[in-house]
Amino acid sequence: MTIEDIYQLYSTHYKVDTDTRSIRKNTIFFALKGENFNGNKFAKEALNNGAIYAIVDEKEYQTEDRIILVDNVLECLQQLANYHRKKLKTPILSLTGSNGKTTTKELINVVLSKKFKTTATKGNLNNHIGVPLTLLSMKPDTEFGIVEMGANHLKEIDFLCQITEPNYGYITNFGKAHLEGFGGIEGVIKGKSELYDYLKKSNGKIFLNDSDETQVKQSENIHSIPFDSSLEYIDANPFVKLNFNNIELKTKLIGSYNYNNIAAAITIGTYFGIDKLAIKEAIENYIPTNNRSQIIKKETTRIILDAYNANPSSMTLALQNFDNLDTNDKIIILGDMFELGETAAQEHQNIVNIVEDMNVKSVFLIGELFSKTTTKKASKFERFDDFISNFNKSYFENCSILIKGSRGMALERVLSYF
Ligand code: ATP
Ligand code: MG
Repeated sequence: MTIEDIYQLYSTHYKVDTDTRSIRKNTIFFALKGENFNGNKFAKEALNNGAIYAIVDEKEYQTEDRIILVDNVLECLQQLANYHRKKLKTPILSLTGSNGKTTTKELINVVLSKKFKTTATKGNLNNHIGVPLTLLSMKPDTEFGIVEMGANHLKEIDFLCQITEPNYGYITNFGKAHLEGFGGIEGVIKGKSELYDYLKKSNGKIFLNDSDETQVKQSENIHSIPFDSSLEYIDANPFVKLNFNNIELKTKLIGSYNYNNIAAAITIGTYFGIDKLAIKEAIENYIPTNNRSQIIKKETTRIILDAYNANPSSMTLALQNFDNLDTNDKIIILGDMFELGETAAQEHQNIVNIVEDMNVKSVFLIGELFSKTTTKKASKFERFDDFISNFNKSYFENCSILIKGSRGMALERVLSYF
């Protein structure tokens, strides 16, 4: 079967699924393989659960007509996504960057939905599987597509661009994330800029945070739309406040670093003709989910839960932001940052050097990497392998607590402690 043939089957319902546990009626099941599973084995089950076809790449599982054998299921999914994208003709904005992609994507989505029927990446489905799935979730009536692209090594963003063929792009920032795979910050800049390279070649446009020197430098000779000149940061105490066209916006996002994410969404909304009051409403009503910078109030403690992920750039910003908060006793709980390769020890030490000088009651360090750091102010630090233990809960009463660590540390677990 050719991609054209598979497209004919897909375009009767515009549905694909990859997990038999959440399969939908009339969907096409793509039997992907992972380290610990082989989707081929579930093809039959997918049909029993409502799929109309299943795509497999191992002959022994092709046991009936509705099970279609291809060379490679993943490549077939990617090719189908691109074939569909070409037919769609919908404008698509892709975004990448080290930090803030999902938040910015969601903000852009709430703003653009005020005028267009949008389809955006669900959650964090931003890789070589998630991007095709996002494209295939766009129906012909989608008026605007928003696609988050993640990468932890070179050529990945380029590959995702070849599939997505975006018309617009935005890079949130170039930071110290996935240093291991990119081989240092230069690699990060090069890798993320593959989105710019693609848009340059295809005559696309980019939105530009013109206060970021690296972005300005990397975007030379590309049609760029700078941040809306009426934007003005007010403060983040704890929620970000800003001015836009002489109207004040009070957001539900904490952390001054979120200002750029909001500014991007406003700039993009304005560019596509969304009314300023509609933009204000969309942004003010947006509440972040998934442990991304949430404030949780527990009796007498106020917790800033930012446990979704962490890297040296986002952790430094989160700490600066916490330091600027005008509040009572502060406690910091930090978990290890992963994927830093050779720089891991130094980056953890840098973080300890920052918190050392902050005016806080104490700092809790959780994980192996932080355990190897040193400090001149040992009495301020408590170290744990995996979880906070042997501590009386009353110690945390009337405090503000910042919680941040890599996804693998799942620091939201410590919430049960308070
Ligand atoms: P992932 O790589 O997991 O997809 P992401 O780029 O989508 O991450 P978000 O999920 O939006 O990023 O945010 C994750 C965390 O990054 C936030 O909780 C916050 O700590 C930090 N962060 C968000 N925006 C910025 C920003 N503009 N600059 C620096 N750090 C940020
Ligand atoms: Mg994300």
